[in-house]
Amino acid sequence: MAMILDKDVIVIGGGAAGLMCAIEAGKRGRSTLVLERSEKIGKKILISGGGRCNFTNRDASPRNFISENPHFCKSALARFTPQDFISLVEKHGIAYHEKKLGQLFCDQNSDKIIHLLEEECKVAKVEIRVNCSVSKIERNNHFKIHTDYGVLKSQSLVIATGGLSIPKMGATPFGYEIAKHFGLSVVPMRPALVPFTWNAQDSKIYNELAGVSLDAIVRCGNQEFQENILFTHKGLSGPAILQISTYWQNGHPIFIDLLPGKDVMDECVEARSRGIDLVRALSKHLPRRFVQNWCKQNVPAKPFSHCTGKDLKEISDHLHRWQVNPNGTEGYEKAEVTRGGVDTKEFSSQTMECKKVPALYFVGEVMDVTGHLGGYNFQWAWASGFTAGQVV
Ligand SMILES: Cc1cc2nc3c(=O)[nH]c(=O)nc-3n(C[C@H](O)[C@H](O)[C@H](O)COP(=O)(O)OP(=O)(O)OC[C@H]3O[C@@H](n4cnc5c(N)ncnc54)[C@H](O)[C@@H]3O)c2cc1C
Repeated sequence: MAMILDKDVIVIGGGAAGLMCAIEAGKRGRSTLVLERSEKIGKKILISGGGRCNFTNRDASPRNFISENPHFCKSALARFTPQDFISLVEKHGIAYHEKKLGQLFCDQNSDKIIHLLEEECKVAKVEIRVNCSVSKIERNNHFKIHTDYGVLKSQSLVIATGGLSIPKMGATPFGYEIAKHFGLSVVPMRPALVPFTWNAQDSKIYNELAGVSLDAIVRCGNQEFQENILFTHKGLSGPAILQISTYWQNGHPIFIDLLPGKDVMDECVEARSRGIDLVRALSKHLPRRFVQNWCKQNVPAKPFSHCTGKDLKEISDHLHRWQVNPNGTEGYEKAEVTRGGVDTKEFSSQTMECKKVPALYFVGEVMDVTGHLGGYNFQWAWASGFTAGQVV
């Protein structure tokens, strides 16, 4: 196959990280080409944040990221901060708002962010090819990339192919395969920011609660998150559940505090003395449909008036530490991100360049850096892409 194109930089993957890297490289005058396998760039940006793209988090800091090496993300996050991306959003006149907890969303559709990236690519003279699959990569004193468009040649190669979540949006294991091809180690992957599924027994009991949501603290190991949980037909979802799922391992229980910061012991005692039943008393704090169901499963089968102080204490403790044993998760079909990925020990945290293979870079979610829910994963994509873009 003829050598048809010679570029300074080729970026494989036209998502958040790849495009940011390409823009920065282009701004430095490097001839840059982005190869995207799908028919259009930035598909995940389009569906992100419920269609409004939670494009960053005002308070992003290294503690919002999980990695075998928690220090790795520090340098990139300091080089390109949430404020840097906010400035870009403002420069393009995109209206946005803070929803909660520092999470910034577009007022309108996520495609505004894609337009921003396209505009910046145009200015930086970045070329983009969609519907372009890569079959093979070779390395001599440059990279030879075999594609649908023939063999391309570049000095630097950036892998920005993202994680495994949402295969129908174009997610592929390509980045991990390339890593292995070049002898790089990969931290085992698993779906993260993903809903849990009930075990068979709980499914029968709690299925009828689909649609109920409530504020709770969800714990697993030494991690905890306080936000909403949502009952679904398959199990549990909602922000607190998605957050804890990133830390959960198969077979482990999670513990849910259904009444964070509330002591209902006194109220229960008073309700009992006034002949008010427990469901009514607890429904002041929790959705009635949930309380009815939960009490059926978790409260002694005797009249409330016969419950002793010890019984009430047990009920109260149970409400603060309800154990759920998920059967599993809804997997990559529903996961927002992939935990694990190409091991950060293979790279310089200052440049994202591979230590073993000079001029090979990895950026974004394909690496073993996973953000919490709330705009952090895009911040990592922007920051790692920006960092590599300064040197490729
Ligand atoms: C439903 C959903 C909602 C989300 N919402 C948010 C949110 O609001 N805020 C947030 O911070 N994060 C959110 N995320 C996570 C966020 O989208 C990702 O972490 C982020 O997109 C990662 O950027 P990336 O560039 O590394 O990878 P991606 O955005 O996944 O981009 C990778 C690109 O590479 C392409 N590609 C893959 N394989 C190949 C190949 N072999 N050849 C060429 N191209 C290839 C893909 O088609 C894709 O365009 C969400 C994720 C999902 C699934």
